[in-house]
Amino acid sequence: MKEQLTHRDTHSLYFEVAPHVWGTKDIFVNMYMVQNPEDNSWVLIDAGLKSSAPKIKKMAAELFGPDSKPNAILLTHGHFDHVGSLQKLADEWDVPVYVHYLELPYLSGRSSYPPADPRSSSGLMAKVSWMYPKKPINVEHRLHILPPDGRVPFLPGWIYINTPGHAPGHVSYFRQRDKILIAGDAFTTTKPESVMSVMLQRKKLSGPPKYFTYDWTAAGVSVKNLAELEPAVVATGHGQPMSGDEMRIELTNLAVHFNDLAVPNKGRYVDDPAVADASGFKYIPPKPKDNTVLLLAIGVGLVAAAGVYFLTRSANQKRKPKSFWDKLAGEYLPKKLRDAL
Ligand SMILES: [Zn+2]
Ligand SMILES: [Zn+2]
Repeated sequence: MKEQLTHRDTHSLYFEVAPHVWGTKDIFVNMYMVQNPEDNSWVLIDAGLKSSAPKIKKMAAELFGPDSKPNAILLTHGHFDHVGSLQKLADEWDVPVYVHYLELPYLSGRSSYPPADPRSSSGLMAKVSWMYPKKPINVEHRLHILPPDGRVPFLPGWIYINTPGHAPGHVSYFRQRDKILIAGDAFTTTKPESVMSVMLQRKKLSGPPKYFTYDWTAAGVSVKNLAELEPAVVATGHGQPMSGDEMRIELTNLAVHFNDLAVPNKGRYVDDPAVADASGFKYIPPKPKDNTVLLLAIGVGLVAAAGVYFLTRSANQKRKPKSFWDKLAGEYLPKKLRDAL
């Protein structure tokens, strides 16, 4: 590493997860750079938001030198907040993009993800999730499939694990030697549905983001599989890296009590998961009956009724004497004087 890594400004740009693994956050999502110490080459894992490219390039320049480019971009999955700068960076660097084969449809323009589920949480990030892009991007000419034997291209000593439930071809990356886990969104280390938690980076090992998770049974199995790896450090798509006993206890707890801790009480995909195959989503549960329009109609009706009531009341009031002097003039003064007034 270069000397300037100890500089405070440099550290505000990125954080060190473990030897040869660094991360950076753009607004609410993380990206990672992993180096192969054998030849000092590196890969980028995930490509953040559309706004993330300059930050990623600056970080790469500071870590690896001004014109350094990665061997490849590896993805955990293709949600909009993980592929925002993918096309731009892959084109600029002219590098391949590696994904699990079940994630291909969403990166080659063939299938959209299922609609987000704003009912899954009361958090603002979930409530506005209906606005998040779900349409596929198309970087087909750059796509490569991760090898079926679990090895990770360009990163000896790393394996990947398919961790579906949040996205069909979601994968997590694991360095076996020192048990470093880049989990993607299989689980998170903040409350991803809460704006405050995400912005303040409050540490809380949580399930996958509720608004995008389409199969909660699969997501629970994925967390179990990751917990069984007994990672020493976990770095996720949302939240700060965690390690040590605190993390181990919380991860085991999440795996064992996934239904209570991660699965929402209500939501479109809770009892009726969406189903995908290699060509995309085949079944999406129907949109739950939305009573917003009914509630809105009732609300408008109540406001209108209240308006009519107050208008009538004030009209009636106008007809009656309003003050003592009005009363006096109306009831006690002689008719002649009344008329003269
Ligand atoms: Zn995601
Ligand atoms: Zn995400």
